[in-house]
Amino acid sequence: MSAMDSILKFNETFVANNEYKPYETSKFPNKKLVILTCMDTRLLELLPKAMNLANGDAKIIKNAGAMVTEPYGSIMRSILVALYELQAEEVAVVGHYGCGMTGFHSEAIYTKAKEKGLDLSRLEDASYAGVDIDRWLRGFEDVEENVKHSVDMIKRHPLLPEHTPVHGLVISPETGKLTVVEKAE
Ligand SMILES: [Zn+2]
Repeated sequence: MSAMDSILKFNETFVANNEYKPYETSKFPNKKLVILTCMDTRLLELLPKAMNLANGDAKIIKNAGAMVTEPYGSIMRSILVALYELQAEEVAVVGHYGCGMTGFHSEAIYTKAKEKGLDLSRLEDASYAGVDIDRWLRGFEDVEENVKHSVDMIKRHPLLPEHTPVHGLVISPETGKLTVVEKAE
């Protein structure tokens, strides 16, 4: 049975038994907060618990590494939608120690893609279109530096509402302890 088969089976009884009732809330974040964090599985439940966030409390955006690499990419757009359309007023970037994006380089993906028999010459189309693929696939060397960089990218955005607090933190994926890298007033 695939993961999805068991999910769908579970879902039928979840809905039938009204198990969604404790999670009823609105689309507007009660704590007026938007968080960018990493997709790391260890943070799935730990991060909300460690930050005292219940369902409905915050907008949570995730990607590999909690990285903002493009000022006009989907992460920045999501942050702006949360601030303008969904009543969020405060932003927090939460990286984590032991992140898989630390020291990550495109070569790791190229090697494994070749092992899977992929034809990497097709990447040339993207190169011709001006995409720097090595840069696009790159992680970071230091998690705290990456959080600072992401915070900086957000703060410098011309569409960020004035006086929006943008914080930077790093969480331990074991204990949930938060280390403040940058705290807005
Ligand atoms: Zn991570």
